[in-house]
Amino acid sequence: MQEVATLVKCCKSTTNLTVYEVPTNKEEGFLICAKCAAQLNKKEELDSTHWACLNEAMWGEIPAVQVVSWPLLNRLKDQSWAADALDMMYFDDDTMAWQNLRAIMKMMAV
Ligand SMILES: [Zn+2]
Repeated sequence: MQEVATLVKCCKSTTNLTVYEVPTNKEEGFLICAKCAAQLNKKEELDSTHWACLNEAMWGEIPAVQVVSWPLLNRLKDQSWAADALDMMYFDDDTMAWQNLRAIMKMMAV
Protein backbone atom coordinates (compact mmCIF):
# COMPACT_ATOMS: atom_id res chain seq x y z
CA MET A 1 0.00 0.00 0.00
CA GLN A 2 1.33 3.43 -0.91
CA GLU A 3 2.07 6.28 1.42
CA VAL A 4 -0.66 8.86 1.22
CA ALA A 5 -0.90 11.56 3.84
CA THR A 6 -4.66 11.75 4.10
CA LEU A 7 -6.74 8.67 3.58
CA VAL A 8 -10.48 8.80 3.36
CA LYS A 9 -12.24 5.54 3.96
CA CYS A 10 -15.30 5.65 1.88
CA CYS A 11 -17.37 2.49 1.76
CA LYS A 12 -18.04 0.10 4.62
CA SER A 13 -16.21 -2.80 3.08
CA THR A 14 -13.15 -4.09 4.90
CA THR A 15 -11.84 -6.54 2.30
CA ASN A 16 -9.67 -5.94 -0.77
CA LEU A 17 -9.03 -2.35 0.14
CA THR A 18 -6.79 -0.33 -2.12
CA VAL A 19 -5.74 3.28 -2.25
CA TYR A 20 -7.20 5.35 -5.02
CA GLU A 21 -4.90 8.28 -5.51
CA VAL A 22 -6.40 11.50 -6.66
CA PRO A 23 -4.56 12.12 -9.94
CA THR A 24 -3.88 15.79 -9.33
CA ASN A 25 -3.05 15.47 -5.66
CA LYS A 26 -0.61 12.88 -4.38
CA GLU A 27 -1.15 13.84 -0.75
CA GLU A 28 -4.67 12.58 -0.45
CA GLY A 29 -6.34 9.35 -1.36
CA PHE A 30 -9.40 7.25 -0.96
CA LEU A 31 -9.30 3.87 0.68
CA ILE A 32 -11.71 1.94 -1.45
CA CYS A 33 -12.71 -1.67 -1.98
CA ALA A 34 -12.38 -3.58 -5.26
CA LYS A 35 -16.02 -2.90 -6.07
CA CYS A 36 -15.63 0.83 -5.55
CA ALA A 37 -12.50 0.78 -7.71
CA ALA A 38 -14.34 -0.95 -10.54
CA GLN A 39 -17.12 1.60 -10.30
CA LEU A 40 -14.74 4.52 -10.16
CA ASN A 41 -12.99 3.23 -13.27
CA LYS A 42 -16.32 2.73 -15.02
CA LYS A 43 -15.91 -1.03 -15.17
CA GLU A 44 -19.16 -1.43 -13.26
CA GLU A 45 -22.31 0.59 -12.90
CA LEU A 46 -22.30 2.88 -9.90
CA ASP A 47 -23.97 1.37 -6.88
CA SER A 48 -25.20 4.30 -4.85
CA THR A 49 -25.03 2.37 -1.59
CA HIS A 50 -21.24 2.30 -1.90
CA TRP A 51 -21.05 6.04 -2.38
CA ALA A 52 -23.61 7.39 0.08
CA CYS A 53 -20.56 8.16 2.24
CA LEU A 54 -19.72 11.00 -0.16
CA ASN A 55 -22.61 12.88 1.31
CA GLU A 56 -20.61 13.25 4.52
CA ALA A 57 -17.06 13.00 3.18
CA MET A 58 -17.48 15.98 0.89
CA TRP A 59 -17.82 18.26 3.90
CA GLY A 60 -14.55 17.08 5.39
CA GLU A 61 -12.63 19.95 3.82
CA ILE A 62 -10.31 17.57 2.03
CA PRO A 63 -10.16 19.06 -1.46
CA ALA A 64 -9.34 15.75 -3.10
CA VAL A 65 -12.54 14.24 -1.76
CA GLN A 66 -14.62 17.12 -3.01
CA VAL A 67 -12.96 17.00 -6.40
CA VAL A 68 -13.57 13.28 -6.81
CA SER A 69 -17.06 13.55 -5.35
CA TRP A 70 -18.24 15.95 -8.01
CA PRO A 71 -18.09 13.62 -11.04
CA LEU A 72 -19.33 10.69 -8.95
CA LEU A 73 -22.28 12.68 -7.67
CA ASN A 74 -23.00 13.77 -11.22
CA ARG A 75 -23.22 10.14 -12.23
CA LEU A 76 -25.52 9.48 -9.26
CA LYS A 77 -27.72 12.52 -9.60
CA ASP A 78 -30.87 10.55 -10.31
CA GLN A 79 -30.66 9.80 -6.58
CA SER A 80 -32.19 12.65 -4.64
CA TRP A 81 -29.42 12.75 -2.00
CA ALA A 82 -26.79 13.09 -4.72
CA ALA A 83 -28.70 15.85 -6.50
CA ASP A 84 -29.06 17.67 -3.18
CA ALA A 85 -25.37 17.30 -2.46
CA LEU A 86 -24.47 18.71 -5.88
CA ASP A 87 -26.72 21.69 -5.26
CA MET A 88 -24.90 22.44 -2.03
CA MET A 89 -21.40 21.80 -3.25
CA TYR A 90 -19.28 24.85 -3.62
CA PHE A 91 -15.73 25.47 -4.74
CA ASP A 92 -13.86 28.64 -4.04
CA ASP A 93 -12.69 30.16 -7.32
CA ASP A 94 -9.43 31.13 -5.69
CA THR A 95 -8.45 27.58 -4.88
CA MET A 96 -6.97 24.98 -7.17
CA ALA A 97 -10.09 22.91 -6.75
CA TRP A 98 -11.72 23.91 -9.99
CA GLN A 99 -8.60 23.26 -11.99
CA ASN A 100 -8.23 19.85 -10.43
CA LEU A 101 -11.86 19.20 -11.03
CA ARG A 102 -11.62 19.94 -14.71
CA ALA A 103 -8.61 17.65 -15.04
CA ILE A 104 -10.41 14.83 -13.29
CA MET A 105 -13.63 15.28 -15.20
CA LYS A 106 -11.65 15.13 -18.41
CA MET A 107 -9.96 11.95 -17.25
CA MET A 108 -13.21 10.34 -16.20
CA ALA A 109 -14.90 11.65 -19.34
CA VAL A 110 -17.83 13.02 -17.38
ZN1 LIG B 1 -16.72 -0.16 -1.72
